[in-house]
This record gives sequence, structure tokens and C-alpha cells, in this order.
Amino acid sequence: MNTLHVGDNLSLDIDEERWRCGKCANDLGSARENVKRGLLVGERAPAEIHRPLIDAPYTFSPDPEWVRILEFYCPGCGLQVETEYLPPGHPITNTTEIDIDSLKRRLENGEIVIEDGHMRPAEEATP
Ligand SMILES: [Zn+2]
Repeated sequence: MNTLHVGDNLSLDIDEERWRCGKCANDLGSARENVKRGLLVGERAPAEIHRPLIDAPYTFSPDPEWVRILEFYCPGCGLQVETEYLPPGHPITNTTEIDIDSLKRRLENGEIVIEDGHMRPAEEATP
């Protein structure tokens, strides 16, 4: 099985073309779709994350009328996989999109290898 670490908390199962939790390997859905579709989502009040620093009209805490903070969690183990700051009403974005066909082609022709979850040029691979 070829598994690529995509971030600290997310992996790509290249053979099955599935997103997997980086901690519990739970299946998070098709890697050809936005990984956030397979994650639980919670909205946080901006003042919980960025506490007001001063008692004034502008506190250095984001205005909830201007920003919302979404946290995405693995439904298998609860690990927080992603965080997103968006203007209220803005659709959730796709921030992790990988050209799977190109990745597979480069693996098959020996241009790259996966070692310990990391992609390397074949000439740098451990013999
Ligand atoms: Zn998990």
C-alpha cells in the first residue's frame, strides 16, 4: 500500500484513492473529492480562538460579522484535521487537491518513490 502523508493529520492512500486520517487511518472518502466532505465540522466563535487583548472598540479579536472559523475533525478518532477561516456565507473551500493520475503515473514509471509516507525522487531513494 502506498500511503503519502499530505499533512500532519492527513494521508492519501494512493492505491485505493482514499483520504485517510493521519492518526487512526479512518477512511475519509474519495481522494478525488474535497476531503472536508468526509470530516465532521464545527464552527468556533472567533473570540474563543483569538481572545480580545484590550478593552476597546478594536480588540485584536476577529469580528464574527466578518469571519467564521471552521474546524474539521476525523469522525473516527476526533483528531482535528483542518481549520478554515472564511467570510460568513462563503462556501467551504477545497484546499487539498492532488493530481492523482499524475502521481500514479510518476510512481509507475519510477520517477518518484514513497518512503515512510514521504515522496522522493527515485535517485534519492534509500537503496
Ligand atoms: Zn482519525
